[in-house]
Amino acid sequence: MSKPNILILGCNFAGLTAARYIHDTVKDKANITIIDRKSVLLFVPNIPLQVLANTNPAIDLEYKFMSFLEHDGSAFIQAEIITIDPETNTVFYQPNERAGHPVRKMQYDYLVVALGNRLAYDKIEGFAMHGHSVTDTFLGNRLRNYLHKEYKGGPIVITSDVFHQGKSDKLPPGLPVAMTACEGPPVEMAFSLAHWLEKYKLGNASTIRLTTPAKVIAEDAGETILDQLIPMMGNMGYHYKANTLGIKSVHEGGIEYNDGSSQDAEISILFPDWQAHEFLKELPFTDDMGFVITDLYMRNPDYQNIFAVGDAASITVPKIGSLGHIEAEVLAKTLGKEVGAITEELKPLEFELLCMGDMGGIKGFYMRTNEWWGGDESHLEMGITPYALKMGFKKMYYTLGGKIPSWGLAFSELVGDHTLI
Ligand SMILES: Cc1cc2nc3c(=O)[nH]c(=O)nc-3n(C[C@H](O)[C@H](O)[C@H](O)COP(=O)(O)OP(=O)(O)OC[C@H]3O[C@@H](n4cnc5c(N)ncnc54)[C@H](O)[C@@H]3O)c2cc1C
Repeated sequence: MSKPNILILGCNFAGLTAARYIHDTVKDKANITIIDRKSVLLFVPNIPLQVLANTNPAIDLEYKFMSFLEHDGSAFIQAEIITIDPETNTVFYQPNERAGHPVRKMQYDYLVVALGNRLAYDKIEGFAMHGHSVTDTFLGNRLRNYLHKEYKGGPIVITSDVFHQGKSDKLPPGLPVAMTACEGPPVEMAFSLAHWLEKYKLGNASTIRLTTPAKVIAEDAGETILDQLIPMMGNMGYHYKANTLGIKSVHEGGIEYNDGSSQDAEISILFPDWQAHEFLKELPFTDDMGFVITDLYMRNPDYQNIFAVGDAASITVPKIGSLGHIEAEVLAKTLGKEVGAITEELKPLEFELLCMGDMGGIKGFYMRTNEWWGGDESHLEMGITPYALKMGFKKMYYTLGGKIPSWGLAFSELVGDHTLI
């Protein structure tokens, strides 16, 4: 009997981790193929670090994963996904190494969507000329050049636009709703940039205007952490403002918000709306914003052979890689059982926010909480250990080809929860 074909779309954090975990679980009971438009993984979380270190983020953060997939016996195709026909189990893709390829078709038995999101900078008026960010190597390198070559010591705004979370009555009930996609990075940027400003005698925390469209920044960090974090940032001198209702426009010398207020800024570091890819919005297995609907086993309730992990999944809010990682573990078990490779009882996804951020000066912060989802875990630690954990995670990820063992995260939690230095 021929083996089922598992087709994974997307090979960044969620896709690569899912591919490797699925291979581990299903072993030789299925063929695995992965398609991505690029053949390297972008290690997004460390872009801010390299920007401030005056290093092009494209160096060292574009990770070659191919040998690990080859080792697993999984196939990789570099191509643009054009669309999916869920009625005929077909994916339409176009190889993109060189221009001129015809669109090809591939049949799947099981489909995993791990395509992340589009970051809607093009919806922010003035961004092309006057906006900065750190979400990819192009923007990171642009900000690096401005900071290190042109910055005159003026105010720096760090803010997010409004996120439009998807809705569907087919999603698990009771999911919290966020007004921003992911506010760990703005908080991390505020900490590490303040250290950088001090180091180069160009300013300090009071140079930074940290704002949010929501009632409070990083709302998904939960009340216990925010009750410590917000007063602490105030004491450090940050200008903090909530309820901006999002970004109206950015221009030379400043930014305007949807609440009618504005701020002067020499640099505006912006985090846009995380939106679903256009072709997904048309498809019958996505929510009203185009994010893929899944249950807590990462399976679409209507198309039982379609799954999603990472930022592309509707239930992944905030859009954070550590959630995608947990989802990949859950998915591997779901598919393992589906193809008869395992018989153990499946456990549903348990939401948790795990975030390790740089604060500059070999210090970092560590947050682990599930309060936002109604749990009672809440840990905030700061010091050398969280920084070491953040750097250690990248090392472990690169060494193991994205297959961080489950004890790896548990170990980080154990060390992070009990940070001494
Ligand atoms: C500055 C910053 C710092 C962050 N720090 C952290 C952190 O410390 N911890 C944490 O957990 N998370 C962090 N995050 C969030 C984390 O980076 C994302 O949640 C994670 O990258 C999502 O992974 P993903 O694989 O779901 O999506 P992505 O990383 O967006 O990957 C999607 C993949 O799909 C491919 N793709 C998309 N469309 C197509 C198409 N049509 N055809 C072919 N290929 C396609 C892309 O090439 C890409 O490889 C941070 C984010 C930012 C911006």
